[in-house]
Amino acid sequence: MTSLLPKIRIHPVFWLVIAAGTLTGHLWETAIAFLIVFIHELGHAVAAKGFGWNVIEIELLPFGGVAKLDEHEAHPFYQEFVVFLAGPLQNVWLPLLSYAMLRLPFWGTEQHQLFLAQNSALLLFNLLPIWPLDGGRLLHVLLEIVYPFKPAYKKMLYFSAAALLLFSILTFWRYPFSINLWVIVLFILIALYKERRVLPLRFIRFLLAVSSTKYRFARLKRLRVSGDTPLSNVFSLYYKNAEHHIHITGIKDSDIDGKELVDKYFKGGCDGDTISDCR
Ligand SMILES: [Zn+2]
Repeated sequence: MTSLLPKIRIHPVFWLVIAAGTLTGHLWETAIAFLIVFIHELGHAVAAKGFGWNVIEIELLPFGGVAKLDEHEAHPFYQEFVVFLAGPLQNVWLPLLSYAMLRLPFWGTEQHQLFLAQNSALLLFNLLPIWPLDGGRLLHVLLEIVYPFKPAYKKMLYFSAAALLLFSILTFWRYPFSINLWVIVLFILIALYKERRVLPLRFIRFLLAVSSTKYRFARLKRLRVSGDTPLSNVFSLYYKNAEHHIHITGIKDSDIDGKELVDKYFKGGCDGDTISDCR
């Protein structure tokens, strides 16, 4: 447990919220938000550690947090589900903690009510299907099960942007002067924009992971492509956590192993840019 603590970092936006809360006298709100977010993130961290994941650090944000993970690792989908759900799950039992704390001299009904309100707000907000919130990450795992890596990533980003737009319209219509909400929406918007820009890099990392992994997956995907299909298009059909058998249409006994194809490509063993040049 203690080995997790040094890896927790407070995001500058959260420092701002803490400073603003302190200056405006909303000390309890700030302390309660910190406690809830901290335990929420600890849930993610403990689950990730339990599966032996390499958690680089955990950044605390006023509305949750972001666990930075080693991107070179390929994790089974069920582990991702558990790790991304482990945060929101803490918010399910946390009301009991606040209830138990009512015995403490400094914890009165006012603190209890504040705690309950903030806790449910954080739980509901985090489950919105907007990346990088937990709901968005869970959606991403579902998309990766159904679609190949690259289209799953794009769909996740575009869906998140659309859901964020809808969320912004609905909340600003009700709470037009909530600076907190503006800051959060802006933060997510920037995160989505940055993520869209690094997609080509993420894709290369995914292919490198396909090439470097010694593990063989039980999930098998059969792909059928024509001989003149560019390699980049073939790789765009690759799924996460899967093996690929690629059949070139019209050619007998042309089946290629997906991992071997990526290996050959990275080692410069292809004569050109199409799959026929790589046989
Ligand atoms: Zn979370």
